[in-house]
Order: sequence, then C-alpha cells, then structure tokens
Amino acid sequence: MRNYIKHYINGEWVESTGSETEEVINPATEEVIGKISLGTKEDLDKAVKAARDAFPSFSQTTKEERVEMLENIAEEYENRKDEIIETITDELGSPLEISENIHFMMGYNHFSQAAESLKEFSFIEEHGGHTRMKESIGVSGLITPWNFPTNQTSTKIASAFAAGSPVVLKPAELTPFAAVILTEIFDKVGVPKGVFNLVNGSGSVIGDGISSHPDIDFVSFTGSGATGEKIMKNASETIKKVALELGGKSPLVVLDDADVKDAAKAAVTHIATNSGQVCSAATRTLIPSSMKQEFEEEMKKALDEFPVGDPREGNYIGPLVSKKQWDTVQSYIEKGIEEGATMIAGGTGKPDGLDKGYYTKPTIFTDVDNQMVIAQEEIFGPVMTVITYDSIEEALELANETIYGLAGYVYGKDPETLRKVASGIRAGRVKVNDAEADFSSPFGGFKQSGIGREWGDYGIEEYLEVKTILGYPS
Ligand code: NDP
Repeated sequence: MRNYIKHYINGEWVESTGSETEEVINPATEEVIGKISLGTKEDLDKAVKAARDAFPSFSQTTKEERVEMLENIAEEYENRKDEIIETITDELGSPLEISENIHFMMGYNHFSQAAESLKEFSFIEEHGGHTRMKESIGVSGLITPWNFPTNQTSTKIASAFAAGSPVVLKPAELTPFAAVILTEIFDKVGVPKGVFNLVNGSGSVIGDGISSHPDIDFVSFTGSGATGEKIMKNASETIKKVALELGGKSPLVVLDDADVKDAAKAAVTHIATNSGQVCSAATRTLIPSSMKQEFEEEMKKALDEFPVGDPREGNYIGPLVSKKQWDTVQSYIEKGIEEGATMIAGGTGKPDGLDKGYYTKPTIFTDVDNQMVIAQEEIFGPVMTVITYDSIEEALELANETIYGLAGYVYGKDPETLRKVASGIRAGRVKVNDAEADFSSPFGGFKQSGIGREWGDYGIEEYLEVKTILGYPS
C-alpha cells in the first residue's frame, strides 16, 4: 500500500494542513493501492512562498550548474527504473512493456534532452547593437493529467529547471505516485530547497489555486479543453502567461500508394497504445474510397496483434484509467452506433472474461461522416473512426475540419504527395510514415489543441522572459 499523505515543500516532506485524503485505485483490479492527501490553499501558499524565496538564487545559477543538475536527475531517474515502471502499471493500468518503453523512456528523454538543449541555449544575444537577454519567468505552476504520469510532468519540470524557474507541481489525483518518485529523485540529487514543490490535491482546489495565485508567474497545463479554458480565465485576472497542451482529434491520411497492411496496423496502433488515452493519437483515419474494403479487412486482422487484458500478462492494451473514463468511452461507442456509423470491430461492454477492471473493447467505426460526434470529439479511448476521401484536396479538407490541431500523420510513398499532405495539415506535429520520435523537436497544438510548445529548446523558451537592453556595453 502506498500511502503518501505528505506534500513536498521547501525541500522537506511536510504534513498537510488539511485532513482529507483520496484513495488511489488500480484500474486493472479496481483495488485501492494507496492514498494521497488532498492539499489545501494553505499548503499551496506555503509551496508558492518556498518557490518564490528560491527564485532569486535559482534564477542566477549558471547554465553549467543547471546542466549538471539535469544530468544528475536523468541518472538517478534511471536508477529508479523498476519502481517507475511498476508504479505506472499499478496506477494507470499501463502494460509493463508500455510502462517501460514509453512512460519510463519519455521521462528519461525529457531530462536528458533538456540538459542537451540547455548546453546549446543562448540566454544573451546581440542584435542591431543592442542586447536581448532571456531571463527566468519566475515561479511556474504545473498542472498535469493522468495519461502520462512521467512524460507530462518531466517535460514541464525539465524545461523549468533548465530555464531557472522554481516550480509547484500538482499531478492528477488518479495517478499521483509517479510524481512522488520524481520528488524523491530531486531530493536525492540535491535540487536546491524551494526549487521543486509537490502539492497533491484536487483540480478544483489546488489546480484552481495555482491558476489564480498572484505569486505564480506562469502556468503550464496539460489536460482537457474545458479545464484549459477555466485556467486561462483565472490566469487572466493576474495577467499570467499560460501554456496549454489540450486534446486532439488527429488525422492519419493514408495515400493511395501506401502499403495497406502497414498503414492499417499503424492506425490500430494509435488506438491501442495506452488504451487510446493519448492526446496526439490519430483517431480519424482517412483512406481513399478505392482502398476501403482491403483496409477494413487489414485493420480487423491487425487487431489480433493487440490483445486486451491484464497489464502484467503481456497484453498490449490494458484497462482505461477509471470508471469515469470507461463510462465516457462507452457513451461514445453508443453514440457512434446511434449516428449510423458501421462498427466493424469492438462494441460496448467489457471484453469477454474481463469483468473486473475498466477494460473496454477496441472499436472501429467505418462509413463515418466527418461531421459525426465520434469524428469531432476527443474520445480518449481505443475507438477509431475511418473516413473515405476521393482526392488529396478532399483528404486535406477533412483532415483540417476539426477544432483541434495537435498532430497529423501521413502514410504513403510518393515524396511530393507526402510533402503536400504533411505541410497542408494544420497541426503542431506531423509524422510522415514511421519517422523516429525526436525529443528535441517542439510539441504542441494549433487551434483549440493549445497554446505554446514543450520539449527541447522550445520548451525552455516557455519559462523565459525576453528583456531588451539598449546601450548595454558589450
Ligand atoms: P482534466 O483536464 O480535468 O484534468 C487534468 C488536470 O487538471 C488534473 O490534474 C486535474 O486535477 C486538473 N484540474 C481539474 N480541474 C481543474 C481546475 N478547475 N483548475 C485547474 N486544474 C484542474 O481532465 P480529466 O481527467 O477530467 O479528463 C477528461 C478528458 O480530458 C479526457 O477524456 C480527455 O479527453 C482529456 N484529457 C486530455 C489530456 C491531454 O493529454 N491533452 C490528458 C487528460 C485528459 P484532478 O483530476 O486531480 O482533480
């Protein structure tokens, strides 16, 4: 049982000023695996004060000192590998292999990438005889969701540390334990006191408190659009800068010269990985009408390669994170049926033999009209919508006919068409075929997918203010 009922403030684990706690559930077993303290506004005030007090000295540390700190964090993070994997599997229900290859690795990559990006980063530039300086923005409030407990936290923390900004982190109540391990790592490597503060608690108290706190200069949030909107409204009262990484309904455009089997498998991988709880997942697959029958057959076949079940038994798809998320996904599957889409795999209810745990069936809808609710709203579960097109122009129109713009994907062979589609998709990150992941490249959304960029040098920029000095002697 993991009972973490303390917050980490000013370099120490401290009792909460409140008495409320929240149980954490393993979504694969529906059993309680521990609890956290629900922090109060008073706890938050203490954490913000600690960060504020740390700001003058931390913001003046040298680049070399911060590179060393980030490298030490990456090294200690690696030392905690087994615990990180186990913890994410327990709290998120993520299959062990995904916990290792995706969750653990993403956290590691953000800390080591931030160290690399920082080495190359220039905080002072000469321009037209004058000087531009980049200075730490001040105290940052970080609010993170449950779907990537180490990725979302680590990218924000690593960039903030690189920029010399002390932070207060509020992780999601559903998956709070990975952040406890991160905190222990920072403590072990000697992150100066007050530079990192962890306050657990609800979004409505601690999250809301962060976005409206007069002593917080910047809020970086990842989560739903509805919460992003509240955060922006709150932040506007103290003219606080916000970065928002919100949802998506990303298109995967399959070109007519694509290998159908590979593209169909890629589409299924998108909804299977992390049980489809991925903001940048492709959830609308756009295929040429002529490919429809073959593509549908290949998708159904590909599903066999992604078994659903116990995350500790070698399955690729674990449960959804919570009963609430399970209910949401069920209602979208019902909606798809009601809207008249053709369901070629999956459906409502739990997969056979999986009565315990928040498991859902990977579901594929074809004959989808892009105006249907299932094609427009973020479902955040293993549900794919397949839409046909008859020309590249139509494919691009459909790809962009969404309020979102987080990511896009294109599969095919002809370089000119790949280029045309990749540059025509209005999104912050477009992947061509099976291009490798790159942690130095910016990540973030166009349109209602958000504001700002994370990862690498663009991530660091978010935590900086630009100062112009005229007449500064060189
Ligand atoms: P939320 O946006 O509510 O949660 C994300 C984080 O925000 C959590 O830490 C949450 O705290 C916190 N939060 C909640 N309310 C407030 C508030 N008023 N002020 C500040 N912070 C707040 O997402 P949900 O967990 O409710 O998921 C709903 C949907 O959001 C999903 O189905 C999915 O579509 C989308 N989503 C998108 C993500 C992405 O990566 N872009 C990630 C997660 C969800 P707590 O939960 O602890 O109360």
